[in-house]
Amino acid sequence: MTAGPAARAPEEAQAVYLDCNATAPLLAECAAAMAEEAATARGNPSSLHALGRRARAVVDAAREAVARLVGAAPEAVAFTSGGTEANVWALRAAFAGNGAAGGLAVSAVEHPSILETARDLERHGVALQVLPVDARGRLAPFGLEPGTRLLAAMAANNETGTLFDVPALAAAAHAAGARLHCDAVQALGKVPVDVVAWDVDSCAVSAHKIGGPQGIGALVTRPGLGVEPLLRGGGQEHGRRSGTENVMAIAGFGVAAQVAERDLAATAARMRALRDGLEADLLAALPDCAVQGDRERRLPNTASLGFAGVKGEALVVSLDAQGICVSTGSACSSGSGRPSHVLVAMGVPAGQLGGALRISLGPATTQAEVAVAVRAIVTAVRRLRALAA
Ligand code: PLP
Repeated sequence: MTAGPAARAPEEAQAVYLDCNATAPLLAECAAAMAEEAATARGNPSSLHALGRRARAVVDAAREAVARLVGAAPEAVAFTSGGTEANVWALRAAFAGNGAAGGLAVSAVEHPSILETARDLERHGVALQVLPVDARGRLAPFGLEPGTRLLAAMAANNETGTLFDVPALAAAAHAAGARLHCDAVQALGKVPVDVVAWDVDSCAVSAHKIGGPQGIGALVTRPGLGVEPLLRGGGQEHGRRSGTENVMAIAGFGVAAQVAERDLAATAARMRALRDGLEADLLAALPDCAVQGDRERRLPNTASLGFAGVKGEALVVSLDAQGICVSTGSACSSGSGRPSHVLVAMGVPAGQLGGALRISLGPATTQAEVAVAVRAIVTAVRRLRALAA
């Protein structure tokens, strides 16, 4: 199965879906590839017979497509259950074997899969350094503590879209004798990801952020880097990650990677124009509205907005009632009632923290959908402000 033109599955045609950083709509091509897998007699990729060899070929083809998208060799890619497992694996592997020796540095705005694992490692004796960010979400100048073994820093922030300078971070880590693990889950498919040019030691990616299925991702590692398995058992993924491969999801990931590689430049330009227009329209229509993040170096699809005097949850509920799907911050912290750790780390003023909205566009987002969303947001913010007055 190869990629055809990008299209949305029919059930997603109804809503104005602007929450693609939480999960992107499943591409019709991926759904078709997965349906083909589901309809085909199944084999286990580890089986030697014909059906096993067929399943192995599906996994290998997808591995090649994912590897191409990140500029790696196929052997560098080990499939996981998603970005979370890839991040947890990279961190735990760095501190496996020799206990708590050496330190870990993470940026303050990492995904919870990094931050929570880092705190757990700290509870077990690993020295943890949390690197602060500035008001735009960029890493402030830092020096790694002596003995740092691993620096974990994301390529693109899931809430604000702010991009880190990954090659510079890799150089800083290597100069200090440390490795760099890069969470590229949000960068993938939206900006070029090149693990060789970036010189990262490991990199986490996930299918469902690029129109593939949920529950499948990969850890991409530098050739020769010994990575202790997180999951032991049957020795799949060349002994790196045990468990029978999720062939159907892997097939979908492979197709999503092909589509992303083919469409990235055109899609990014289109999304950037729509996102910039959306921000400009909202800023023009509403006072006390701010764009958060680094407006120069940002993902092309992400708008993080703060509306003073409004509760983000109330805004999301009001928009949902009109069929518009957006998020208050990261999906993980949505509904928790707590302000986003990313915006807190950036020092966003208290008045704007509660009214944070993340709007994230996808390849299929249209100008008409953006216009509907802008009108609905302006009306909802005015109404909620009037009620609060
Ligand atoms: N890293 C980042 C930056 C993310 O945005 C996410 C998902 O929200 C993850 C990691 C986790 O990926 P997954 O949902 O595949 O476990």
